[in-house]
Amino acid sequence: MRALVPFGKRHVVGIVTAVLTHTDIPADKLKPIKRLLDEQPALPPSILALCNWGIQYYHHSPGEVFKNALPLALRNETTPLIEFVDTWQVSTKGKLIELSSLSRAPKQVNALTTLRNHPNGLTQTLLAGLDIKSPTLKALRDKGLVEIHEKEQSYPSWATDNLLREACLTLNEQQQHAVDTVLNTNQPNTDKNMSFATYLLNGVTGSGKTEVYLQIIEHVLKAGNQALILVPEIGLTPQTLQRFQQRFNVPVLALHSNLTANQRLTVWRQANAGCAAIVIGTRSALFTPMKHPGLIIIDEEHDLSYKQQDGFRYSARDMAIVRAKLENIPVILGTATPSFESLHNAKEGRYRQLSLTHRAGEAKLPTFEITDLRKAELKNGLCKSLIHAMGHELKQGNQVLFFLNRRGYSPVFMCHDCGWNAACVMCDARMTYHRQPKHLHCHHCDYQSRINLHCPDCNSTDLRAIGQGTERVDENLSELFPKTRIIRIDRDTTRRKESLENHLKQVNSGEPCILIGTQMLAKGHHFPHVTLVVISDIDSGLFASDFRATEHTAQLILQVAGRAGRAEKQGKVILQSHNPEHMVLQSLQQQNYNAFIQHALPERKLTGLPPYGYIAMLRAEAAHADMASRFLEQVIEQFNNLSSQEPTPQTVEAWGPVPSLMMRKAGRFRFQVMLRSNDRLSLHKAIAELLPQIEPLPDSRKVRWHLDVDPVQLD
Ligand code: ADP
Ligand code: ZN
Ligand code: ZN
Repeated sequence: MRALVPFGKRHVVGIVTAVLTHTDIPADKLKPIKRLLDEQPALPPSILALCNWGIQYYHHSPGEVFKNALPLALRNETTPLIEFVDTWQVSTKGKLIELSSLSRAPKQVNALTTLRNHPNGLTQTLLAGLDIKSPTLKALRDKGLVEIHEKEQSYPSWATDNLLREACLTLNEQQQHAVDTVLNTNQPNTDKNMSFATYLLNGVTGSGKTEVYLQIIEHVLKAGNQALILVPEIGLTPQTLQRFQQRFNVPVLALHSNLTANQRLTVWRQANAGCAAIVIGTRSALFTPMKHPGLIIIDEEHDLSYKQQDGFRYSARDMAIVRAKLENIPVILGTATPSFESLHNAKEGRYRQLSLTHRAGEAKLPTFEITDLRKAELKNGLCKSLIHAMGHELKQGNQVLFFLNRRGYSPVFMCHDCGWNAACVMCDARMTYHRQPKHLHCHHCDYQSRINLHCPDCNSTDLRAIGQGTERVDENLSELFPKTRIIRIDRDTTRRKESLENHLKQVNSGEPCILIGTQMLAKGHHFPHVTLVVISDIDSGLFASDFRATEHTAQLILQVAGRAGRAEKQGKVILQSHNPEHMVLQSLQQQNYNAFIQHALPERKLTGLPPYGYIAMLRAEAAHADMASRFLEQVIEQFNNLSSQEPTPQTVEAWGPVPSLMMRKAGRFRFQVMLRSNDRLSLHKAIAELLPQIEPLPDSRKVRWHLDVDPVQLD
């Protein structure tokens, strides 16, 4: 329950998580709660249990975990948990009085008659809609004929019959099998009570995963239960929301970052009251309470956005599984490119795998071609054969998607005479050259500066933009295809809220165009008119030092490729590379994610990294490099002294301290230590023992440090 508690000189909103009869904390250190804020618990038991699990598993402070779980608006003591509204109701006297006694006030007669017909009362807003004004009501109240009561706000609810607003598609065999498996229809009498199980819906791009979700949700709704759907991004894919709203006659509510705190609270209250039948949201929607929980879906489960990258570093995917278990409901992880963790869990039998191996309807998977850039003839920085292929598609009235995961004009701005290049003063990184508006920009810390006219080292004026960003590709393609509409979608062109929607509208109009975009375009879009997808400059992802880099690159390639040929017309993917023989590209050429996995998983096994081992990262940063590394050396010393560190097969290893991949970022030096074990429990036991030793370390106040359990990115 929420409580107002003294904190220094102020009062703040706290959460009562348990009531104890005994504590070892001395009585003079304890302070009384000022008051409870609500009459009922702020979080249902399942969400409380979920938070407690998160506190333990991520070794994180309870306050911040609850902060993530509770709507922001409820951290304000004046915001009530439950919304009350003034309701006008007829009094006993008002029920009995002869209407004729009011005959000289026809408006009052009308108002009283209406309220007599609604003995449970009506809100001011509803009455205003019936043209009953407040002076009339006040006059009746003064006569003692009507009363105002505070009543719990009620929300539009839904009926379990007449659920469908549009007809379902006829499922193909694989889709039907997936639906049947989750609904348990092969086991009679159980389908009304779907219980906890984790399903990995592994379906190639365009295989109709959404239709599978929709038909399972229909059954959930029929039983009067709610569904929670997590997606990586809502702002980027308004289509997703529309597909759920088009299908069902029920309230479908979205939770995303563009909502105000009060709007979020309204959605939260409706879900909590059981009135929101379907809630679709990004990561933090995981904590939305449901009065009648029925199902959780994690769409694009491999997506990195499910892991929070600061503060409480939780994985919404992993916690969704914990929540489903707590609520005893099924959870579905859907993706065309499963994370290695999920594949491993499926292989070990912890998840049930449901496969959709071909595209739904008439659509076929695109063909896949790798162009060797080493021998290519270039024009405007683009390969000639590529220009030809693009022109061919456009002539046939089709659309082309050009993927380049780098915004700006060029990634390098350098002196042709001495080799100087523009670097960020705050980071170990190059400044990106932007044309519109003209400036240099660090994409890591946002530092911006003017463009040098002279080289600071040799004073030469021969400064050149090297390499291609989306802005430059835009310029080059405009020259090559002057009559074609070019739509660039990256963070620079979609800053304003409506601009992305306008861009997408143009794409969906179907007229031939070239779409240029960064990974904003890779996620879940359905572009039926795109027949050619060009993937450019993906090589850096093949050689990055993060052990997950190839996994993430393969996923990105297949997701982008998956935008091609999603409707009647056959699609084609052209991937440009300087390393066409690279294992990742070769296995993906058959668009066979499994072939890629066969190569990549054994490597992980050799190194004992996830999914075969378990890791946690301790990161520290400070204004001076030796401060951060010295602090982590002290941590390692503590770690080596832990009693649990007897050498056994379950040993926990500490690797480091080593500088982070980008050692200096935003003016601070960053180092890390990786803790690793083959055994999850041993790792967590060691962390639990180690953490209390870190706080008292002399340097712990001079650095910023944090623990990241199951990190997904080693930056
Ligand atoms: P995914 O999410 O797996 O990439 P979608 O759910 O977006 O795929 O489906 C791709 C397209 O296939 C959509 O236009 C969808 O309407 C269509 N589709 C899905 N299932 C069927 C089906 N059983 N029959 C015909 N078309 C289907
Ligand atoms: Zn120079
Ligand atoms: Zn920077």
